[in-house]
Amino acid sequence: MNCRLQSKLLRQVCSSGLLHVTRNASSSQRKNLIILGTGWGSYSVLRNTDRNLYNVIVVSPRNHFLFTPLLCSTTVGTLEFRSIIEPVRNRHFRRSKDYHFASAVNVDPQRKTLLCKSEVDESIQYELEYDKLVIGVGAVSNTFGVPGVMENAYFLKEISDARKIRTRMINNFELAVQPKSSEEDKERLLHIVIVGGGPTGVEFGAEVYDFLKEDFSRLYGSLKNVVRVTLIEANHILGSFDQRLRDYAERKISRRKQFELLQSSVREVTPNSVILSDGKEIRCGMVVWSTGLAPRNFTRRLTFPKNKQHQLITDDYLRVHETPQDTVYALGDCAQIENWHLPSTAQVAERQGRWLSKYLNRKETEAFQFKSSGMLAYVGGYSALTDMKLPHSESDLKLKGFHSWVLWRSAYLTQLGSWRLRMQVPFDWMKTFFFGRDSSQF
Ligand SMILES: Cc1cc2nc3c(=O)[nH]c(=O)nc-3n(C[C@H](O)[C@H](O)[C@H](O)COP(=O)(O)OP(=O)(O)OC[C@H]3O[C@@H](n4cnc5c(N)ncnc54)[C@H](O)[C@@H]3O)c2cc1C
Repeated sequence: MNCRLQSKLLRQVCSSGLLHVTRNASSSQRKNLIILGTGWGSYSVLRNTDRNLYNVIVVSPRNHFLFTPLLCSTTVGTLEFRSIIEPVRNRHFRRSKDYHFASAVNVDPQRKTLLCKSEVDESIQYELEYDKLVIGVGAVSNTFGVPGVMENAYFLKEISDARKIRTRMINNFELAVQPKSSEEDKERLLHIVIVGGGPTGVEFGAEVYDFLKEDFSRLYGSLKNVVRVTLIEANHILGSFDQRLRDYAERKISRRKQFELLQSSVREVTPNSVILSDGKEIRCGMVVWSTGLAPRNFTRRLTFPKNKQHQLITDDYLRVHETPQDTVYALGDCAQIENWHLPSTAQVAERQGRWLSKYLNRKETEAFQFKSSGMLAYVGGYSALTDMKLPHSESDLKLKGFHSWVLWRSAYLTQLGSWRLRMQVPFDWMKTFFFGRDSSQF
């Protein structure tokens, strides 16, 4: 009798909606944490923040996390595009409406509101209220105002950029074998120019080199002696690496047949050429531009204090200057801790994200600290550079060549954000090794 009464009461409570109200009440007690972006910094906050303390809401025009260190490999088909991205909805939001496929337009720090614009329909704009806001919107490629770069060059920041580069490369190769292509057309179409000798420019060159060496003659035999790559850098390539490793990379790259390292700067990019500062014109079929970072329009629009590079200035708790205490944080490429110049890398952004989530979870009271665990770069031909500090030691680990390449691949494999990616990437590597790169264009 008692039992029946109990279950009747329970049914009545459920149907009256009281249980629902109770659940909503606990959800409304949680603070609204809005995270802008799904890059290295933001994704790390999303993964590690305690959902019992916050309603975690993400606003980003990119609905996936991108493992940028392997992006260059997708431009030539060593890896497939989907093998290095992780859909953000796999992170299991408490409520489906907590991911916004939208861009942040502006922030009102006094009213604690964020203005968003839908990525699906740009006419849709709306406001969201936050208790805490994390800004991790990254940066865009810097053109340094060089004429023609925006219109004629390719950038390498997003998976869509890698896809555009792959399409253009294949189109150029196909056009070059068509009957109406003169010898002069062939030379131009098969000439790839890379501007910028930082890790991205060098690694892209390395992937193109591997493609030319391992697959090009199989696919476009007659053209193998025409194809060329020129890497233009105003100073020395891989400037952030140790001198000996840099020299090794320079020697290795300049010894490559059909590869040229050019120390110069670019004055203009036209649809079919690059014009150097001394007026020399280099005719080419495509230009890939990778010369540093510039702020996004959203970051420019914000009225918070910024440095000369237009990065938001924070204290060493990642709190943006001149915003109400503990409400607005910034991390990664779009921000700089006051008087502390950290490199714009995934390593920094990811560590900041991890630290910030601990701080937000009230498990960290010490300010953010950073000790670099080193750098890796692939230079092609199963050869890489390792410039690392050994853990718990003052000594450095400086490796070059094949051993370093093994380390490069293993390090990235362990850092991939999910088991799905950790399975997919080695599968692609194996596929490429046994069957060659996929040159389909779609
Ligand atoms: C090809 C390549 C290779 C690299 N290799 C390495 C490497 O080997 N090691 C290393 O340490 N670093 C590497 N980097 C650098 C590293 O990727 C960046 O430093 C890192 O991505 C910065 O992280 P972030 O979170 O600041 O920004 P990002 O990762 O760029 O993410 C920014 C996010 O903000 C979103 N966003 C943009 N605008 C808005 C808006 N208005 N509202 C909301 N969201 C917005 C974007 O869609 C994106 O999701 C590489 C970069 C590239 C391009």
